Amino acid sequence: MVIGGDVHSVNEILEYAKKAPFYQGKLPDKALVSVSELTRLPLTTKEELRNHSPFGFLAVPKSEVAVYFESFGTTGKPVSIWLTQEDLEDNADEISAGGVNLSEEDTVLIRYPYAISQIAHTFHYAARRRGACVIAASSRSTISPFPRVVSMMHSLEVTVLAALPLQALLLAKTAQLMGLSPGEDFPHLRAICTAGETLTPRRRQVLQELWQVPVFDNYGMTEVGAAAMECPFGQLHPLVDYFVFEVLDEDRKTPVELGELGYLVITTLKHRATPIIRYWTGDRVRLFQASCPCGAEYRLEVRGRRESCLEAGGRLFDLWDLEEMVEEVSAKGLWAAGPLEQSGLHFVVESDQLDLRRLGGRIAALERRHQIPLRVTLVPPGTFYDPKELLSVGEVGKPRYIFSAEELKTKAYEKSLRL
Ligand SMILES: [Zn+2]
Repeated sequence: MVIGGDVHSVNEILEYAKKAPFYQGKLPDKALVSVSELTRLPLTTKEELRNHSPFGFLAVPKSEVAVYFESFGTTGKPVSIWLTQEDLEDNADEISAGGVNLSEEDTVLIRYPYAISQIAHTFHYAARRRGACVIAASSRSTISPFPRVVSMMHSLEVTVLAALPLQALLLAKTAQLMGLSPGEDFPHLRAICTAGETLTPRRRQVLQELWQVPVFDNYGMTEVGAAAMECPFGQLHPLVDYFVFEVLDEDRKTPVELGELGYLVITTLKHRATPIIRYWTGDRVRLFQASCPCGAEYRLEVRGRRESCLEAGGRLFDLWDLEEMVEEVSAKGLWAAGPLEQSGLHFVVESDQLDLRRLGGRIAALERRHQIPLRVTLVPPGTFYDPKELLSVGEVGKPRYIFSAEELKTKAYEKSLRL
């Protein structure tokens, strides 16, 4: 399945990308006859981006570059992404395609990380262009710990919070620890914009219930910027004027049908400084035909990375699957999961009541439905993070939900959400 762009825009970017040292000699000399011919070209992997950073993908003279970002890598070299001023304008347009519809009436508190990462800056620029007032309250900063951000949201009459889903959740918990009700004591708040982490339906529901406002998600990554935005009707639409989207099987070759699970491959159509052809994102997605009142033709479901999946009984369980199962045990509690012996799953779930018997036959029903053995360990709220640390200065690491069986045994999940 290939959507986005047209044969003219695809040929244009293929010709343009040859300015980047990496693509010289790698792209066809003859123009493509159809967009689907793009699928015959080689993929670009994260490893190639990394190995050819910082300048291998740069397609303009350095004098034309406006900003530089790096994608977060857990190990090794980072990926370099350069943007021209025009790229920045396009990225802001992409963000502005979202359903939150910022205006000069808005005070937007941005809690995305500002350091080296793209989304905070793009969102900031998009909000400013719409005339909104921006509060740059970066995450991963000791300058703006949780209580200070909550106080600012309260006293500055913030209308929109832009944050990773886990950050929005922890801000709500901090507000509660400060004696405030997230749903009642922030009457000016009208929306939350999330990005940077897979937003499962359960996580969305938890955030919406806590804050009592709609959540608008945005899917993207530093390598390509915002690639899909949620519209006013709550559907995540791929930005087909800016990118070509393909969904491939795990073999990295075979396209999957609409509605089938596969891996997303993205080609940038407009990036001038860092064009990327057929980027293997590693994200598991489903692409659907949309029937949305906003007029968009396609809808994207982003289910997280292959590394965030657990294998049991010969099947892969992604974050959506795992959260769907956790929901049967606890509507809102934080959780961790890992493998159970040969072929099962072990969940550790926060709950006010630790007596497993109150769950009745729900675990057995889940075992029957999924045909795998399950173990559930209930732990008290506050097991995964220290509430006292929420109220003190600190930093938050990457969210982590998946643990090895050994780590579950040694309770490595305790206080693992570093604050
Ligand atoms: Zn829509």
